Amino acid sequence: MITLPDRLAWSVQRRLAGKPVGRHAHQFSEGRKEPVRIARFSIDGNVAFGAVEGDRPDELVLDIIKGIPFADFELSGTKVPLAPSDSRTRVRLLPPVLPNKVVAFGRNYADHAKELGNEVPDAPFAFFKPSTSVIGPGDEIQYPSFSEDLHHEAELAVVIGRMCREVPRERVKDVILGYTCANDITARDVQKREKQWARAKGFDTSCPLGPWVETDLDPSDLTIQLTVNGQQRQLGRTSEMIHSIEDLIVNITEAMTLLPGDVILTGTPAGVGPLTVGDEVAVTIEGIGTLTNKVVKRG
Ligand code: MG
Repeated sequence: MITLPDRLAWSVQRRLAGKPVGRHAHQFSEGRKEPVRIARFSIDGNVAFGAVEGDRPDELVLDIIKGIPFADFELSGTKVPLAPSDSRTRVRLLPPVLPNKVVAFGRNYADHAKELGNEVPDAPFAFFKPSTSVIGPGDEIQYPSFSEDLHHEAELAVVIGRMCREVPRERVKDVILGYTCANDITARDVQKREKQWARAKGFDTSCPLGPWVETDLDPSDLTIQLTVNGQQRQLGRTSEMIHSIEDLIVNITEAMTLLPGDVILTGTPAGVGPLTVGDEVAVTIEGIGTLTNKVVKRG
């Protein structure tokens, strides 16, 4: 797990000399209301977590976290602007977590199952996307050489906050750190011709996540939408899920242990469709934000 060395906080403070720097960190305990948005980012080659402050995209500020968001942590009071126009710092958002595994559920929205000619499953069914498939906001989706039919799938992602297994339904909320946007990029032609989906859904760059983890959110009825080059392709609500987030976490933790930072993808609403090289694809979920990625040819 990557934590922020004190010397980094010190160097950031120096670089921002002249800016107000908080002297007293805030202690948050379990059940905290704030901060609600936790980002992972790099600054001048170092990696840290930060609490995102502000509303307008060009005014966002990261308050650097001392410690890790999977335990009690403190805000350092050292703040760096996220805006790309700011030249004093080179801040870049990273995938908000580095999961040990991404567990993705298929056919969890009836309209999507129907559009691909599939039956709605009686029970949830899961597959894996490997840790090496994860990329962050603004990173490039590399069109794989072995596919000619790459598809987008906008999904609500659940970020696990603590090690857990055999989680009872009433304890599910206790194991969730928060929620982020995901795009379950799929080589549809490969998915159709290969029995297992390891290559079709697990190739490098096939799991964009971000832009940050929203920790204070009711996920039961959120708008989820996806655009390609600004044109809407997918639109749904999380209330249309066949199996709830509780169902999915009970189902998977019957079988395996989830670790802090693991990610659960909850299925995609109708409207999946092809991506081509050069496309800009954006997933927006109400209450979280927008995850944008560009499709490039794999070099
Ligand atoms: Mg999917």
